[in-house]
Amino acid sequence: MAGLYIHIPFCSQRCTYCDFYFVTTQKTHAGFVEALCREIEIRGAVYGKLEPIETIYFGGGTPSQLAIPDLERIIEAINTHFDASNVLETTFEINPEDASSDYLRGLKNIGIDRLSIGIQSFFDDDLKFMNRVHDSVQAKRVISDVRSEGFNNFSIDLIFGVPGQPSEYWSANLDIAQSFEVPHISTYNLTVEESTPLANQVERGLVIPVDDEESMNQFAFTMDYLTGRGYDHYEISSFARPGYKAVHNHRYWSHENYIGCGPSAHSFWWNGLPAERWSNVRNIKRYEALLLQYVAPVEDKEHLSLDMLADEHIMLKLRTQDGLSLNELEEKYGVDLLTERLQDLADLEEGGLIYPIRNQLIRLTDLGKTLCDTVTAKLLPSEDA
Ligand code: SF4
Repeated sequence: MAGLYIHIPFCSQRCTYCDFYFVTTQKTHAGFVEALCREIEIRGAVYGKLEPIETIYFGGGTPSQLAIPDLERIIEAINTHFDASNVLETTFEINPEDASSDYLRGLKNIGIDRLSIGIQSFFDDDLKFMNRVHDSVQAKRVISDVRSEGFNNFSIDLIFGVPGQPSEYWSANLDIAQSFEVPHISTYNLTVEESTPLANQVERGLVIPVDDEESMNQFAFTMDYLTGRGYDHYEISSFARPGYKAVHNHRYWSHENYIGCGPSAHSFWWNGLPAERWSNVRNIKRYEALLLQYVAPVEDKEHLSLDMLADEHIMLKLRTQDGLSLNELEEKYGVDLLTERLQDLADLEEGGLIYPIRNQLIRLTDLGKTLCDTVTAKLLPSEDA
């Protein structure tokens, strides 16, 4: 079973911190929708024959910039070129300002059953700082609106580590989410990515990023707060009430196959070695032009050896609540971490970063989760070189 990711590269304005691929100038979406459906056809002719689709995820950009008839057309293309008869979850990213009742009803009618809402903060000054389109009123209202339209399975994104944010805002954001009994929350630390407006503000001294210690404290607070209120912390950024873990995202952490369609979308396919990962062109005009000629719009392709996959597996699994299974690592990837890294594992355990190994599982403690990259770097087999 594979996953399908659909990248919709439109936004109405640029958030200061964002380095995803999107355009803000497109007046009409018809050419893009046509090209996207053609890519779905091309991918379906190869990969659709190999595995049925289990999950579909519309991300962006802002998928909710597309009108319902356009989305309907895309879903029709998916159903035509892939076996989507047993899809478990169809997630759609939506911004609060787009979530009118009519639009939500339209999404429901075309089979969307999970929403991921880009709220980021319930405070107007945070939202202004980030240059989001919506305001705090819309951020709160969207939650009751999605419920009224029958969406019980939804997630909200919240961002911590916002420069200049009064200290009480972050806990208040979590209080508000919790008071609405939001079933799934993804929390992200605001990072300064290259070539973003935020990076420019930092370079010019207009914004001073939150320091690492403060970000770590906010993350530690988040873990305590949400797990203390019934949320499962099942992946570093992801918290879910029982029954609401994201199915699609799980495949990214488990080396399961997925196909990405749309400009800049990534795909991963492992069906014998080497595994393949490729990314599409990050330019909508080039994307459309290539597809007009029936050419797959690939920009980069990488072949992954078993050693490279093992490195990734360690990195990805340490992020999860399930943890890194030493048995799976040995049987599937040929790495005997317990023998090769006995001293490193002992050091990590002594430093309180991992729990004592039980049932052949390495799992991060809460302290380890705040220092996940450090733990990963210490355990990567390639560090031997
Ligand atoms: S809406 Fe999302 S994709 Fe668009 S600029 Fe903002 S963060 Fe980036």
